[in-house]
Amino acid sequence: MAKKEFKSESKRLLDLMINSIYTNKDIFLRELISNSSDALDKLYYRSLTDKKLKVKKDKLEINISYDKEKRLLTVSDNGCGMTKEELESNLGTIAKSGTLAFKENMSKEDKANIIGQFGVGFYSAFMVSDKITVTSLSVDSEEAFVWESEGVDGYTIKEGKKKEIGTEIVLKIKEDTDEFEYSKYLDEYQLKGLIKKYSDYISFPIKMEVTHHELVDEEKHEYKDTKEVETINSMVPIWKRSSSEVSEEDYDNFYMDKFSDYDKPLKIISSSVEGMTSYQSLLFIPSHAPFDYYTQEYEKGLALYSNGVLIMEKCADLLPDYFSFVKGVVDSEDLSLNISRELLQESQGLKLIAKNIEGKIRKELETMLRDDREQYISFFKTFGVQLKYGVYNNYGADKEKLKDLVMFYSAKHERLITLAEYVSEMKENQGNIYYASGASVEKIGKLPQVEQVREKDFDILYLTDYVDEFCVTAIQSYEEKTFRNVSDEDLDLEDEEEKKATEKANKENSDLLKEMVEKLPEIKEVRFSNKLKSHPVCLTTKGDVSIEMQKVFDAMPNDMGIKAEMILEINEKHPITKKLKDLYKNDKDEFDKYTKILYSEARMIAGLPIDNPTEINQLICEVISK
Ligand code: ADP
Repeated sequence: MAKKEFKSESKRLLDLMINSIYTNKDIFLRELISNSSDALDKLYYRSLTDKKLKVKKDKLEINISYDKEKRLLTVSDNGCGMTKEELESNLGTIAKSGTLAFKENMSKEDKANIIGQFGVGFYSAFMVSDKITVTSLSVDSEEAFVWESEGVDGYTIKEGKKKEIGTEIVLKIKEDTDEFEYSKYLDEYQLKGLIKKYSDYISFPIKMEVTHHELVDEEKHEYKDTKEVETINSMVPIWKRSSSEVSEEDYDNFYMDKFSDYDKPLKIISSSVEGMTSYQSLLFIPSHAPFDYYTQEYEKGLALYSNGVLIMEKCADLLPDYFSFVKGVVDSEDLSLNISRELLQESQGLKLIAKNIEGKIRKELETMLRDDREQYISFFKTFGVQLKYGVYNNYGADKEKLKDLVMFYSAKHERLITLAEYVSEMKENQGNIYYASGASVEKIGKLPQVEQVREKDFDILYLTDYVDEFCVTAIQSYEEKTFRNVSDEDLDLEDEEEKKATEKANKENSDLLKEMVEKLPEIKEVRFSNKLKSHPVCLTTKGDVSIEMQKVFDAMPNDMGIKAEMILEINEKHPITKKLKDLYKNDKDEFDKYTKILYSEARMIAGLPIDNPTEINQLICEVISK
């Protein structure tokens, strides 16, 4: 029979894995067991709604057996099985997203990360086997099929024989090498240990034949070996065990296995709630964002169980969008198994659980922020954008819940601070919470408008994420202090004398300024100001849309034509002012050139593009060559 090739990306991934960079080969067993457990869950759940299916819960099980001589290890289950098509699509592709970019000369870490990201699951069995044979009879098929592969070369699928619905996976275990003793996977004691270590919480029995060493004659020291099939795992789901009984390592292992992460979680949140709706939940905050987190493909949700039976792999209603990064399990015996998922999603019980869970996660984050700042900062650097997005999403409906969890970079402290911290340090004569936005802390620090505020010794929050300004605009005020962009045209920080002086200058030169506005169609107004200390010019804005917000709107696919109302401010004390006045009187041509150059300068400082760089460059050359 013709061999089918793996999809090319899968092939490279498989190659990476077989030539193992993933050092812990042991995990293959938990991956297979976990797949079996999922298949049993699926079959049982189907049987609840499909009356034709006769499935007895206590008959559902996973079996492990081995043959030392033939070097075979078998993992089988009587779960839902796979059709021919499913064998093809589930076992023929590894990287499901198809967007996997392989770089040449990847570091060992990169490779491990790639494998981790894609949750190689089934394929990890190739780390320990020369050949894998999967025989499966699906609940949806009359015929059984056999999928077989010896690794990268490809696989075959042919008809097979199997009476009972389910899947049997036979691994031909590799020969031992100097580096690794593969025979450990054919050893009763070792296998038992691995099952206990990684799969103890699986809610179906994992059965294996074990040897009992029985003392038959004490005097003669005579023993007899008897063999018996036993359930190796304790079967109590980890979330049903009291957290004092479970080690952190157990939780970590469960998380990494269940949610295909190569890293331990940053935070484990376990709770057991008794009340109108009782439930156990085990939640995790990942230590890094899942590879698809900021893409459309990412699906939020918690696994939902009803008394140990999986109802839904990802119940989205259990998590608000702003906590979409949370992974975990919720189990409630108060949720009826026999209603449709749609009705369940509408149920008051589920809504109550969702509300409690939201509150619990929030509390945990607040505690982390208070007691373990370093950990919180690490969390915030990874998922802060999501919280800030949550603040302004839904017209700010959740901002009260989230405003104390968001942090911004403080110019004064040169690190992230909370709004409460900012306000508590405000100066007596300071009426506003000042912020400045830009592409990076460094760039913002160089904005001319920042100078004036910092000179008064007021702290400024530097906003560098595209969501930041939308976030603070949604919050509007914190403890009655309103947010103020340092690029607003009327910051009102000058003293009376300074104000009078600029007013006078603007009045006396109104013709000059008017002429400049006429030359600059994107500008609403040109004025002299005292805002600037060393810079000659800057752009400020009037109204709700700042320059940074305009940049975000400009980058959106459908141009909504939302523009900032820009003002060009000229430093009245700068020598350029005198020059402008001279030119306005004596050389209009030159005056026009200066106007264009100064405007371009202001745009550059604000990080805005210049439409006609060649022309501007020529003008600059002309002027400086004089
Ligand atoms: P994952 O479990 O992360 O989806 P795997 O590579 O481990 O990835 O498995 C791919 C798919 O193959 C599973 O999602 C499942 O649909 C199917 N599968 C694997 N093992 C079994 C099994 N024992 N019974 C039924 N289906 C299985």
